Amino acid sequence: MKLTLLGTGNVQACPLYGCECAACQQATLDPAKARHLCSAVLEVNGQQLLIDANHPQLQSRFPAGSIDAILLTHYHMDHVQALFELRWGVADPIPVYQPDDPDGCDDLFKHPGLLQFLPPNQANQAFKLAGISITPLSLNHSKPTLGYLFSSEQGRIAYLTDTLGIPEQSWQQLLRNPPKYLVIDCSVPPSHRSGNHNNLDDVLALASALPDSDWILTHIGHELDLYLMQNPDCLNSNVSVAYDGLEISL
Ligand SMILES: [Zn+2]
Ligand SMILES: [Zn+2]
Ligand SMILES: [Zn+2]
Repeated sequence: MKLTLLGTGNVQACPLYGCECAACQQATLDPAKARHLCSAVLEVNGQQLLIDANHPQLQSRFPAGSIDAILLTHYHMDHVQALFELRWGVADPIPVYQPDDPDGCDDLFKHPGLLQFLPPNQANQAFKLAGISITPLSLNHSKPTLGYLFSSEQGRIAYLTDTLGIPEQSWQQLLRNPPKYLVIDCSVPPSHRSGNHNNLDDVLALASALPDSDWILTHIGHELDLYLMQNPDCLNSNVSVAYDGLEISL
């Protein structure tokens, strides 16, 4: 089972248009430091499960027939924007697992094209896909949002974005089934607030409460990147910062 983080930026991404902070300048000079919008792909048992759809080159990165399913975390535009073009493709239908959000995003439900929206997933009700068990976990966000806990014989990986904290039921699920790797929304520096997203203090507190898991920060804004440049030793030993293209294998 391999999880590749296709993008690790928040809604602003990095470099942020027009911003001259040191983090954005660094990302402009060195594209390896840039962050695209937050999404991932899980490769397991010969299948590719796309988690959110916003990759700027989604159609060339994933030619027709190569996406076995899409798992959506929520219907904010920055997580689903690539669906608007993808849906008109000439290819087999792609099953879409989704949170229970009757509003969806714009007219996706009215004109789904090749997107096969499945009945909404309910939190804590595991389902089988590509030979593994996937447990949706409810998250705290401004739209109905699901994280996903992937369990294979090799171990578990959790993918939790977008969220502020972790709801009690989801936290209990993680305590019962601790993941080896936990990828989590960390959008802004300590003491900052940005909508319904974690800041670094929030995540460091969570990471100390589940110390045997490796916590990997994603959904990172340029202000957090700047803070990390200025405070390189601020992370717990079980916490690391994701980058676009990071591969997590079990
Ligand atoms: Zn900046
Ligand atoms: Zn969001
Ligand atoms: Zn987001």
